[in-house]
Amino acid sequence: MQDVRESTANATWSRMLAGNRRFAEGKAEHPWQDAETRESLIDRQTPDAAVLACSDSRVPPEIIFDAGLGDLFTVRNAGHMVDDAAIASLEYAVAKLHVSLLVVLGHERCGAVAMASDGLDALLARATAEIEDSLAAAEAMDTLDERIAEDASIIMRQIGFSVWQAREAELEDAADYERVHIARTIEELVTRSEVIQSALAEERLMIVGARYQLESGKVEVLSF
Ligand SMILES: [Zn+2]
Repeated sequence: MQDVRESTANATWSRMLAGNRRFAEGKAEHPWQDAETRESLIDRQTPDAAVLACSDSRVPPEIIFDAGLGDLFTVRNAGHMVDDAAIASLEYAVAKLHVSLLVVLGHERCGAVAMASDGLDALLARATAEIEDSLAAAEAMDTLDERIAEDASIIMRQIGFSVWQAREAELEDAADYERVHIARTIEELVTRSEVIQSALAEERLMIVGARYQLESGKVEVLSF
């Protein structure tokens, strides 16, 4: 059973990546979007995968994976943030719809990540303006995580942490911030959701991270 699940998840992911290749090459087939499919799905849905993605209008999962009706259970918000609504939706997909694959989909030139990066710069500038000596400066850096956690902006509290973590690891460009944020999103989901945790432990679920590239139309598969 466990092996079956794992191969189901892998097969689903391979199918999604094949769909993405078709899309990127301009050969999308737009499968399962006809009246017949719609009618066959009236009584129930059995999506293979759940996707947590950014709301960016250029990154609709069904289109970039060349999927159709009933294929993907998608949850989207700016910068694929992990909040109660996202967790509840994904838990529904895992526990009730029995998806075997969960894809966290970030993307190139994510405005939410850029906003968090700018916010972090502003926060740093404020912190440095407040202090006079170098000891206090070091202290201000030490408490930067607290400042991020207390920030008025939800995007800062959620994505600012990812940017900060990336910078701590001396990663400085936007693409790296996006990759770290995808990794942190997965980490958050696993930490905060017992449903996801046990599905992973029982090998009923596989989680993958991917970053969509606007220029090529392809998703970059991330390994953590
Ligand atoms: Zn985005």
